[in-house]
Formats: sequence, structure tokens, C-alpha cells
Amino acid sequence: MTRKNWRRTPFFRFGLLSDMAVRRARLIWCCAVLLTVSPAAAQTKRAEKERPTGDKDSQREKRSTDDKKGPVDFRSQNFLIHTDLAADDAKQLLERLETMLELISAYWGRPLSGLIEGYVVNDLANWPPGSIPQEGLPNIVAGAGVTITKSLSQGVGFVARAVVYSVANQGTPQHEAVHAYCGQTFGTTGPVWYSEGMAEMGKYWCKDDKSVQCYDIVIDYLKSNAPKSLNEIVNGKEFTGDSWQNYAWRWALCHLLANNTNYAAQFRPLGLALLRKEPTSFEQVYGEMASEIMFEYRFFLAHLEQGYRADLCSWDWKKKWRNLKGSATTTATVKADRGWQPSGALVAAGATYQYKATGTWRLGKDQPEHRADGAEDGLGRLVAAVLTTENKDGGQEYVLGEQFELGTEGTFKAPADGKLQFRCRDAWGQLADNQGTMTVKLKARGKK
Ligand SMILES: [Zn+2]
Repeated sequence: MTRKNWRRTPFFRFGLLSDMAVRRARLIWCCAVLLTVSPAAAQTKRAEKERPTGDKDSQREKRSTDDKKGPVDFRSQNFLIHTDLAADDAKQLLERLETMLELISAYWGRPLSGLIEGYVVNDLANWPPGSIPQEGLPNIVAGAGVTITKSLSQGVGFVARAVVYSVANQGTPQHEAVHAYCGQTFGTTGPVWYSEGMAEMGKYWCKDDKSVQCYDIVIDYLKSNAPKSLNEIVNGKEFTGDSWQNYAWRWALCHLLANNTNYAAQFRPLGLALLRKEPTSFEQVYGEMASEIMFEYRFFLAHLEQGYRADLCSWDWKKKWRNLKGSATTTATVKADRGWQPSGALVAAGATYQYKATGTWRLGKDQPEHRADGAEDGLGRLVAAVLTTENKDGGQEYVLGEQFELGTEGTFKAPADGKLQFRCRDAWGQLADNQGTMTVKLKARGKK
């Protein structure tokens, strides 16, 4: 990109404005971080799908020829990128950015203000010295990205312009484009946990797909470490660009709150209020549900895998419960494509209960039908667990007991006092395509 080209872009006019008023401008830095992992291990299923097909050697040859040309400008409806990516790759990236922008604009209910400009670097060696503004260079050298938003107050409104500096891989351009959208549209990107958590979500965002699709290393890290407390994530003294591990926690919290049906309805207005700098806080919005969120957050982390659907695994906290005593019976409906579902029965530790399940379900559209005994490998079987509450640190904490097997009919002894839950046993990341419902009748058979 020559200086001449640069002056032809509509941003030059804005550039003059911000140069003149730069002392009154507010600058917001939002970074992406380098995921310290080998490229092979970092591939997601989705990234695999996105990769162009064809002979790899010929692609490499084509790429190396293109690379020699140096950075070129590419334009789509809402983006202008300066990049050394091969033309096909640059166009594919613009398509992905446009799709993501459509999704996030719909989510936040506001169209993008202005055009997003970015430097997307495949190989720094292709860029002549001075061709990337110094403000963004260190983050690119570090293998990551940064979005710098200059925001100017104008009466009651504002004018904001964001510039993205990003390496071409690891979904970094998408991450930075979320910051740029927020910066230009709202004049701010929100507090660090929200800003970075949502930008990480943007990196993975896919139309009509709520499933977890992120880097395996992120899932492995979250599952193998003690959960970071919500307070630490939301109120910790953390800063943008700190570490990919901190980004993983922020993503996990934002993904859960945006998709779990118990919290999603409040999460969007909370985010909008944070972006508009209206008086609100995480505690104010979710304080009443602290125990439930804490439980579902831990549950999400414990069962996280590719394909996990936080919406389908949302807990039903509104269910009415009653003690199952004497000759009383209760009937529960259990869907094959959901996580744990309430039976409505409060069970007592050591008491024996009799159950009978009618109906069939299948573990996928073209899979065989099963009764509640499931398949030979144990999948598709009706299983149960008891949710108990413990008083801890002055508050209430939910604890889910060990899962135990049921089947088509029989008896079981309740392992604890609490709320009996049912589900169809299947991999947590593969519930979405399950079909069918089981009706489970339950009654007490007296204590032993
Ligand atoms: Zn960021």
C-alpha cells in the first residue's frame, strides 16, 4: 500500500480530524493474544473446514509467488484491509468478517458505524519498513493483534475510528474486528472481561450454530484447571492482552451467559449497558442468581467439549418439587437432546423408589431407536443423579451427585436427599441431534 492509496481512502478525512483533535481524543487499546501452541494442535474442526482444498504443494507455490508482491488493499462492504495474504485468502477472510459482522450487529442491535480498516499480516517480511504504523507493530511482531480506537466527543454524541492490526491466523482478525465494531459503534468496548470475552466469541461465531467450537487447547486448559471464580474474572485487576489463559476464562463466561437460556436474556442488555456506560454491573444483574450461575459455570467447565450446547444443557430452576412419599407417584418427561432434566421428585437418602420408563429415543437422525435401556455400549440409557444443596461460606451451593444407571424399569436407592434429575446418556458434545422423549413414572417403595 502506497501513501497515495492511503490518502484516497475515506479514512484520510477522518484521520485529519483525529490528528487535529488527538489531545482530546480517548484512546482504547484492545488486544488479542498469541495462543502458544503448534499450528497443528490449534486447528479446530471449523478451521479445517475453512481451509481451501486442493494440492498443498501447488498452494504453497502460489502463496510464495503472491507473497513477493507485498501488501495490497482489499475492500468489502464494511471492511478495508491492507494485507499480504494471497488474493483468494484475503477475499475469504473478508467474507468471514462480513458474516461475523452481520451476526454481531444483529446481536447488539446496531449497525456498524463507518468502515473498519485493518492491517492483516501474513508474513512481516513482505511489508516494507514503515508500511505498518508503529502503534500496531509491536503486537503484530508478538504474533497477535491490537485494535486502537480513537474516540472523540462531539456534543452529546461521539465519533470513533478504530484501526485493526492483526496477524492473519488463529482467528485474530475476527477477534479484533469485534473490538473495532464496538469501538466505532458505541465509542467503547466495555470492561476487559466483556470486551475480550465477546471478541473471543466473535472469533468462533458461526451462523445458526450455538455449539462450542473453539481451539482444543482452550478446552483442555479450562477443563484441567481449577475454575477461576466469577469475581476474579469480572472484577479482577486484569488487563487487555494479559494471557491466552485469562482470555479462555473470559470466553467461557461470556459463551455460557450468552447461550444458557437462564442468563442469555439478561446478558444482552447488560452488555449494551456496559457498552453505553450506563450504571450497571454484573452483580446487579445476576446477584440474585449467584448460586445458580456458579453451579452452571462449574458444570459447563467440567463437561466442556467441542459441540457442547449451553442452551440445551441449561438447568430448569423453575420446576416445582414435591416429596415422593406413601403411594404418591410422579411422572417426568425426559428429552434425549437435553442435559439433566428435573424429575419433580424430592428423594430421601436411603429410600427406595420404583420407576418405569416408556417411549423410545435415538442418538441421531439415522441412529437406531432405543428404549430406556439404551444400546449395548451404555449410550442411550436413562441415567439419574441427585442435586443437593450445601451451605457454604454463608451462601448456598448446589452439588450434583454421581450419576447412576436406570433403564426401562426397576428400583433404585436414592444416594442423597435432594432433587432427582434424569437424562439420556450421550456424549456432552453430541446431544443436539438426538431425538425422542421418555416418560418416566416414579413412586416410593418404602425405606430400608
Ligand atoms: Zn482483544
